[in-house]
Amino acid sequence: MRRTTPPRPLDIALIFPELLQYATTATRLHPRPGNPAASDSSVGGPLCWPAAEPWPVCDRTDHYLYKLLRPETVRAMRAVYAAATARAAATGQRYELTDDERESLPRYDFSEPHALADGPTPLVPVAQLYRRDVPDFIGPPDADLLQVLWCPLDHPELGYNPRVELRWRRSADITDVRPAGPEPTVLNESYLPTPCVVHPEQIVEYQYADLLPDVLTRRIDAWEERTGHGYQGTLSLAPGWKVGGYANWSLTDPHPMDCAVCGAGMVLLLSADSYEWEGPDRSWRPIEEPDSASVKPTDVVIGRGYALYVFICPRSYGHPPGTTMQ
Ligand SMILES: [Zn+2]
Ligand SMILES: [Zn+2]
Repeated sequence: MRRTTPPRPLDIALIFPELLQYATTATRLHPRPGNPAASDSSVGGPLCWPAAEPWPVCDRTDHYLYKLLRPETVRAMRAVYAAATARAAATGQRYELTDDERESLPRYDFSEPHALADGPTPLVPVAQLYRRDVPDFIGPPDADLLQVLWCPLDHPELGYNPRVELRWRRSADITDVRPAGPEPTVLNESYLPTPCVVHPEQIVEYQYADLLPDVLTRRIDAWEERTGHGYQGTLSLAPGWKVGGYANWSLTDPHPMDCAVCGAGMVLLLSADSYEWEGPDRSWRPIEEPDSASVKPTDVVIGRGYALYVFICPRSYGHPPGTTMQ
């Protein structure tokens, strides 16, 4: 089933044609739980990884450790929640866990011993995107595959977020695919994506208001005041997992994202968002889906429900990515 973003309540570029200079495209991924293969684009699915290539690990020893769970525990918990959700949908009854189900879940404050996070931590697959599926694919001309992984523990030096690594590949070069990578013994459950198939859809976005020329921002502010419309979000920037487009800097206000190697201003590659659409702004819910559809299909949570934006250097794909939480 395809996923289609509803038209915006109004086309802001008809009111402010200057905005067309600050329009860009983004590809909403619309991840939904499923069983992607290594030959598919996915969020949290298996990667098409060369058998001969070592699996990447994180060697840092200064992770911030709090509630650590084993990946298998996280999956078992999610299966319990999914069963309860399906039961409620099938019977029309209230969502409720059975006593047995409740019993099977770890206590709210349970953590595996922090010592289990010692040693190199295998990275976990976050997204795999084939150029053929993603209109806004970004990568070297000869690459048709982007793989995004992260260390599923909190990194104090990165604002207590996971540490992202990227790989671009030519899929035709990978003749011998590794069955599956090693898993971390324990992780922060917020950083283990539930395997999702994707439904890429290209949309148009407009730049974050504070990054537009001052004179235009002031006119938009005045228009908002007059009409009660909100430019930010509903009319300009899509929430959810997406490739390309613009960042929504609503948490910290815009700050420069410069390449750590060469200092170039970086560009947005991928947004990993806690929610596909949010409470006050349900206008981004695809028209094919009911109001009851889950707003967090990937089970990834960034901070207190924010998004992790992954930026890359425009000069070299070999320079490391930068991330910010918004
Ligand atoms: Zn790490
Ligand atoms: Zn650079």
